[in-house]
Amino acid sequence: MSSQVNQDIAERKMQFLFQLRSKGVTDNRVLTAMEKIDRGPFIQGFFADRAYEDTPLPIACGQTISQPSVVALMTQALNVQPRDKVLEVGTGSGYQAAILSQLARRVYTVERHRQLIRTARKAFEELDLGNITAIIGDGSFGLPQQAPFDRIVVTAAAEDPPGPLLAQLRVGGIMVVPVGQSDAVQSLIKVTRTETGFDYDELRPVRFVPLLEGLGKEEYI
Ligand code: SAM
Repeated sequence: MSSQVNQDIAERKMQFLFQLRSKGVTDNRVLTAMEKIDRGPFIQGFFADRAYEDTPLPIACGQTISQPSVVALMTQALNVQPRDKVLEVGTGSGYQAAILSQLARRVYTVERHRQLIRTARKAFEELDLGNITAIIGDGSFGLPQQAPFDRIVVTAAAEDPPGPLLAQLRVGGIMVVPVGQSDAVQSLIKVTRTETGFDYDELRPVRFVPLLEGLGKEEYI
């Protein structure tokens, strides 16, 4: 790669971090993770050139890689601690899981499209992210065999926080989930499990693809 190309990439990355700060990402651990994990390897083909823009982009199976500032703000809201076991529902490209892997002890990520799981696993392997387990399945049921989780993040919009996920959250644990109709602006909700129930905080408006039932269509062919 020529030094001009390297310089361009370095500048785009600097701009990328600047944009995150300007959108309210203040947690240095999150900013360091976002700096370390390059978004480029999680986007293939035509859109790869736009990896450092603060915008969602199309990936395979008609899905999207989320907007980086939203990934960062969701991660910040989770307040992940080094010994945490984290569940992500909606692996997509694998980018959010890779960010979480920098902050947590272990990350489980569940996706309903096998093709996306395959591509994400490859990226995790290439980046040597050994503390992520990527699983094909309907993540709205969580992963009972690995529960309870210290943190849960859902990266697709549910009409309500799914009951099985609430049940798999440890007392003191935090879940971040977009809630609302898929064709409307949704609310990003932070749920904290207490000794006696759940506290709900509304964080900001967001727009996510819907949390769907079952596996992707191609799994049944
Ligand atoms: N976190 C992703 C990333 O970093 O690229 C972005 C995820 S994308 C916005 C939402 C993903 O959730 C899609 O890949 C979609 O297939 C997946 N999804 C939707 N419903 C699901 C379900 N019930 N279980 C697992 N994954 C689901």
